Amino acid sequence: MDKFIFESYAGLEGQQLLGPILRDFPGRAAVVSSFGAESAVLLHMVSEVDKATPIIFLDTGKHFWETLSYRAMLIDRLGLTGVRTIAPDPADLASQDAEGKLHTLNADQCCHIRKTLPLQKALEGYDVTISGRKRYHGAARATLDFLAITDGRLKVEPLAGFSALDIGAYMSAHDLPAHPLTGIGYFSIGCEPCTTPGGSAADPRAGRWAGSGKTECGIHWSHNGETITVPAAARH
Ligand code: SF4
Repeated sequence: MDKFIFESYAGLEGQQLLGPILRDFPGRAAVVSSFGAESAVLLHMVSEVDKATPIIFLDTGKHFWETLSYRAMLIDRLGLTGVRTIAPDPADLASQDAEGKLHTLNADQCCHIRKTLPLQKALEGYDVTISGRKRYHGAARATLDFLAITDGRLKVEPLAGFSALDIGAYMSAHDLPAHPLTGIGYFSIGCEPCTTPGGSAADPRAGRWAGSGKTECGIHWSHNGETITVPAAARH
């Protein structure tokens, strides 16, 4: 099956990859979106294929109000009908972050209970996850594959090969609205306490957990340490 999947989609990216994936895995594929700085590109592609596609938005309870507003606006603008908002388990918050300050004490554990655990639960029942990560964001994303199998689930990254220029060009070509914080210096946008203005096309995630050494929240990591990626011969 792995070989079949990789050969079937080899050389495809963007909407040419997204379209067949959504058609080949009806009801079994979910998009994960933060409705952040560049999210409109993947969401627009999804809307062009199937507006009812399941799209999971993780409301950590720590988002900028601008992100929540942008989410509502994009849903309406793109006609998305499959957006599901998930949240951390109230019991985890009560037992581990009753004061809402865990991010200052142990950011990895805060991400674990506010992001990783609820997302793991939400993705049960899906065989395919789709996200909008790009190689140009660097660090662990620099070697991102378009397709990988992690924890038995097919992970699809249609925008892996997109540059900052590609993102900007797509936004302009389709007249997509920008996240309001991008206009005041935020290049990458996550939870409010852990995001500062800054970043550039050369280092887009510089404003995320700035100065802490942390670069990822962990939702994209494998649980069992095994990730099967596209064989070199099949890569785009
Ligand atoms: S990004 Fe910050 S506030 Fe959000 S879940 Fe992670 S540590 Fe907590």
